[in-house]
Amino acid sequence: MVKRKKSNIKLHPDTQAVHAGVKPDLQTGAVMTPIYATSTYAHKSPGEHSGYEYSRTQNPTREVLEKSLAELEDGHKAFAFASGVAAQSAILEILKPGDHIIAFDDLYGGTFRLFNEIKAKSSGISVTYVDLNKSFAKEIKKNTKMIWIETPTNPLLKITDLKRVARIAKKNNLITVCDNTFATPLNQKPLNFGIDIINHSLTKYINGHSDVIGGCLVIGKNRLLDKKISLIQNSMGAIPSAFDCFLILRGIKTLSLRMKKHNENGLKIARFLKQHKKVSKVTYPGLTNHPQKEIARKQMNGFGGIVSFLFDGNLNQIKTFMKKLKLFTIAESLGGVESLIESPALMTHAYLDDSDKNESIPKNLIRISAGIEDADDLINDLKQALKS
Ligand code: PLP
Repeated sequence: MVKRKKSNIKLHPDTQAVHAGVKPDLQTGAVMTPIYATSTYAHKSPGEHSGYEYSRTQNPTREVLEKSLAELEDGHKAFAFASGVAAQSAILEILKPGDHIIAFDDLYGGTFRLFNEIKAKSSGISVTYVDLNKSFAKEIKKNTKMIWIETPTNPLLKITDLKRVARIAKKNNLITVCDNTFATPLNQKPLNFGIDIINHSLTKYINGHSDVIGGCLVIGKNRLLDKKISLIQNSMGAIPSAFDCFLILRGIKTLSLRMKKHNENGLKIARFLKQHKKVSKVTYPGLTNHPQKEIARKQMNGFGGIVSFLFDGNLNQIKTFMKKLKLFTIAESLGGVESLIESPALMTHAYLDDSDKNESIPKNLIRISAGIEDADDLINDLKQALKS
């Protein structure tokens, strides 16, 4: 029997990423968490079981992943889901028909779609999109129950002051949700600023290798939320497989190393693009021209690998530029070890109708997900593709 050692020592993020929630397997001492590929568990006698009954409800591999995510976010408990949007739709089950959400006006396109196309129609939940950096008190109605934040946002990299929004929410008895996918717990820990629920697409940086779709929710010590989300996770059943949990756990071990490189490459690429004549605007929270740079500095430890920029040219010229790239793959998603590039208007945010896109997502906006390759190689690739 391998003993679990308890420790209350505050660990460095590098150490935390390797060890968070993970202990040698109690039965065998296996250093890597085993993949418990089973749907069900033997009872000693009817009703007398090991603590595991059925894998939708409990699975030891998933349990380790959930412990790891909770520890990384300084949370009390985490719940793993089959995708980032599955985790988001689980949160929305907390609400009742007719409830109202105030959401940031820049979000991942799939979150807009979940709100507008699914929840508004099936559950009668309404959403008002606001700039959370301005005063939004007048939007809080009798039926408002939740404030939905993404920071940095996808794809415009807007930043919101988590402490300020959490304070307003507490005053009005509203639940706050923060999509922390772009930052990861290495760059930002929303629970420490008073946020109630964190949502991640584990598909992105946390897994980091573009080979799993997954999601999670992390909560603080709110017992009511713990009970509600446990019930929703088990009843709705959108849980990840043990194999996917294993892969994500494997990815987490290098999260700290990877985030350092993503942060470094993101900043170098943003600085390079900023001085290029074919680029009319670069958005990156680590640049001095970012409108919320002070807030970013206050609540983040690094600014990630996502860089958005406006290409000075028409759609055909944008396509030619993107196709000339040799190291960047034209693909949706982000946060993997390899660098990706995409056009939000044509790809990830194509769901939004044209009037929305014209207003907030210009057709010449390009989003880069800087991987962990050498920064000079990436910059040289951009340079050659930008040459006319
Ligand atoms: N949140 C953000 C910020 C995202 O970028 C994405 C996907 O791109 C999601 C949530 C949804 O995650 P998934 O694709 O794992 O369902």
